[in-house]
Amino acid sequence: MNIEVALRELLHPIVRWARRKSPWVLHYNSGGCNGCDIEILDTLTPRYDVERLGILKEASPRHADILLCTGPVTRQSRDRLRLIYDQMPEPKWVAAVGSCCCSGGVFQGAYNVLGGVDHVVPVDMYIPGCPCRPEAIIDGLARLLELIQ
Ligand code: SF4
Repeated sequence: MNIEVALRELLHPIVRWARRKSPWVLHYNSGGCNGCDIEILDTLTPRYDVERLGILKEASPRHADILLCTGPVTRQSRDRLRLIYDQMPEPKWVAAVGSCCCSGGVFQGAYNVLGGVDHVVPVDMYIPGCPCRPEAIIDGLARLLELIQ
């Protein structure tokens, strides 16, 4: 067996373990009312302490593992969302936070709204709610981490 392949197979479980233990999330609002963004900020405070799951907020898509989206996709934000997703390294995951991110929600049918973010990027975890409570966000992220593992 090629030494490079053997090394990769040996390291694969360790890399998966590290990724599961320390996912970096990038937050992007593609057109919502900011209600869910405030709940995400709450989730990052010591009161809810999402860092106990190893989750860290990251500013650059090039270093992020999970894209945490809020809001429906508008025509103005579609290309930006796709660009951010394309800049993230593989493997990567997307969590849709809030009802309008999952399906368009209250913005469905508006002239400039395309619908949920799954119109533009593949979604791995849907976390509904309007706004989405921090407990629901933590639960959704914990389930996504199980999927990653
Ligand atoms: S789901 Fe509700 S609270 Fe969240 S961004 Fe959409 S409209 Fe605002």
